[in-house]
Amino acid sequence: MQVRSAKRVSTYICSACRVARRSGLKRYASTSPDIYDVVAVGGGPAGLALLMALKSSPKTSHLKTALIETQDLAKQSQWTLPSQQYSNRASSLTPSSVEFLENSGAWAHVDPDRTQPYNAMQVWDASNDASIQFDWKADAQRYNASPRSVATMTENANLTAGLLKRIEELGALDSLLSNTKVSSIQMGEDDSEGLDLSNWPVLSLQSSSDSSDLSRIAARLLVGADGFNSPVRAFAGINSHGWDYNRHGVVATIKVANSEVLQDAGAVVAYQRFLPKLGGPIAILPLPNGHASLVWSTTPANAAFLKSLSAEEFVAMVNAALLLEQTDLTFMLNKDNGSTITLLDEFQWREKHVVGQHGLTLLPRVLSVQENSVASFPLRFRHATTLTGPRIALIGDAAHTVHPLAGQGLNLGLADARSLAETVAYCVEHGMDIGDSMALERYGGDRFGKGLLMCGGVDALNWMYQLGTGDGIMSNVVSGARGLGMKFFGSGFAEQTGLKGRIMKLAEGS
Ligand SMILES: Cc1cc2nc3c(=O)[nH]c(=O)nc-3n(C[C@H](O)[C@H](O)[C@H](O)COP(=O)(O)OP(=O)(O)OC[C@H]3O[C@@H](n4cnc5c(N)ncnc54)[C@H](O)[C@@H]3O)c2cc1C
Repeated sequence: MQVRSAKRVSTYICSACRVARRSGLKRYASTSPDIYDVVAVGGGPAGLALLMALKSSPKTSHLKTALIETQDLAKQSQWTLPSQQYSNRASSLTPSSVEFLENSGAWAHVDPDRTQPYNAMQVWDASNDASIQFDWKADAQRYNASPRSVATMTENANLTAGLLKRIEELGALDSLLSNTKVSSIQMGEDDSEGLDLSNWPVLSLQSSSDSSDLSRIAARLLVGADGFNSPVRAFAGINSHGWDYNRHGVVATIKVANSEVLQDAGAVVAYQRFLPKLGGPIAILPLPNGHASLVWSTTPANAAFLKSLSAEEFVAMVNAALLLEQTDLTFMLNKDNGSTITLLDEFQWREKHVVGQHGLTLLPRVLSVQENSVASFPLRFRHATTLTGPRIALIGDAAHTVHPLAGQGLNLGLADARSLAETVAYCVEHGMDIGDSMALERYGGDRFGKGLLMCGGVDALNWMYQLGTGDGIMSNVVSGARGLGMKFFGSGFAEQTGLKGRIMKLAEGS
């Protein structure tokens, strides 16, 4: 796959560019920037999905588009791993996300052997004996409906490669400006002999391989798909509010002892255990061939400790987190380095004393962790005050960053991309300027409330499971109340009144 870099489109070195000025490069006479209809900054899942959706619609495929990405997209398109290895960055895609990717032709390019649909969830709380099971397989059988999954686990790199292959199939590789950084964004100028670009964003691009190589492009619509620290959002002066959780998400690829533990009689199960006293939940999400993706949200100190462990000790800690009491886990996480007793010894000794398993039918047992797959990411909550501005739209993490406990970040980004592509198609069909603020309101109106509701809901869920982390009476009351709530939603009453079914629908992203 041949992907352009800024170097190839470069016809002009911006006289205003600080980098060029600093390095004392010769100044070039001012010429007009290249004009594009849609310029997306960021080649993560959200940006690539937007470009793919625009190019796969007959209403918008003719638009002049550019997607700028610092990293090497040609390399990402060729991404591959041996069949028994999985990337530690995997996400659960909701049925709505998969449907969007199917309808736009991208899902056919995602390697199906590396994806894993699941149709059951088991959630339990280490602070009390409450647990809840969701079984979409049994639900479908009960209503004689066709089998459905709650989500499909997919490595982010598999999805990205699939999107890039679909872009190639659509003949749109020319739109990809890979290995290219946006070095600055400014408003254009009113050229008395040419175009009035005074309210158009003009981007200065820089090839990462050649710092002297610059080009400028103007965007009728500039899309920020540039992640948490979005330069486009900063240029547009759009505020983003929220907080850091002071928590890290520890990720790893693990192998589970018996794949039938994760796949109980046709039900492929995802597990989540809330560990409020340790800073957040641990989730085991199924991948093919008995593998699973681990996401353990915990304090930065615990994350650093987990990352420092040998493979054997890491596995012992994860098994402990699925089974033991939080006091045992706290002891193990603070174990003295000099101790001759290993974490595996600690776990095996304590495991014998576990009474019952909170009434759970299944518990995963971790066998091994893939070499070099343990990593951690800081967890944050942010939401932009608006998703649009004059000639500006934000999608994906540039618009909102959400705690991973409900696995919704990437799904929100795909839904944004789909909605923005539909808005652009609507504008084109009705002869509207695609960068006009009023026209873009269609996108903002569709996505702002939904994004805020999802991000706020996940944030509230996270806080609910942070309360009651102490040992006092209030803590016990809060934890008890939470347990009662979980028991209620797991009860026959919630099932009969359709409440549980409603939660299951929400989890599917519908
Ligand atoms: C531990 C963890 C687990 C998660 N699990 C899930 C899950 O199960 N399900 C789910 O839906 N989500 C999950 N998420 C969230 C998900 O990973 C993110 O929401 C998603 O990757 C964001 O995609 P994006 O395209 O919006 O942004 P990004 O992936 O951040 O992409 C932004 C891109 O912009 C580029 N860029 C930035 N600045 C510039 C510039 N100046 N010039 C050029 N390029 C630039 C960057 O190089 C990057 O490639 C998880 C997150 C974490 C931390």
